[in-house]
Amino acid sequence: MEVNIGEIKDKKGGEIQFHLVEDWSHMRCDGQSLHCISPVIFDGKITCTGELFLVRGNVSTTIEANCSRCLRPIELEIKAQLDERFQKASHAREQEPIRDEQTDEEDWGREDIQEFRGLTIHLDDVVLENLLVCLPIKPLCEEDCRGLCSQCGQDLNDGECDCITDDIDPRMLQLRKLLDSSD
Ligand SMILES: [Zn+2]
Ligand SMILES: [Zn+2]
Repeated sequence: MEVNIGEIKDKKGGEIQFHLVEDWSHMRCDGQSLHCISPVIFDGKITCTGELFLVRGNVSTTIEANCSRCLRPIELEIKAQLDERFQKASHAREQEPIRDEQTDEEDWGREDIQEFRGLTIHLDDVVLENLLVCLPIKPLCEEDCRGLCSQCGQDLNDGECDCITDDIDPRMLQLRKLLDSSD
């Protein structure tokens, strides 16, 4: 995903509206799973403030994930609001290095600026980052998903298994067995 900012590069207050649609079904990123099963749509605009280019808009897609309890594949709609700042690399070099690790909270605002070269702002990285932040940590197929039996692995949404599934102390379990057998 990219936008050419040629027409507003020297125009303070200039704006470019964009509507980008891209198939990211083959996108994979290290250590994170983002499996997009519908195109990534980015509606937004770029505003030139003189020195910075502000990129704002909404990104949406549908991803496939696994329910964190029963592991069934599920589809999730992901929507992210983007608000990013870009700066031409030549300006950037006159100042502090831009993409260093953020160590000091006071520097956050300044360092949270992306750089670009030429007349093209590449948006893949910021779109990806923003989508990843929106992923639920524990996606569920349904709010009341019953998950898998911790002992036999049966999907309890399909029905009960024969295990004793109470989170009970093993010693208590022995006691219970004794009580049961004494009936
Ligand atoms: Zn589930
Ligand atoms: Zn079981």
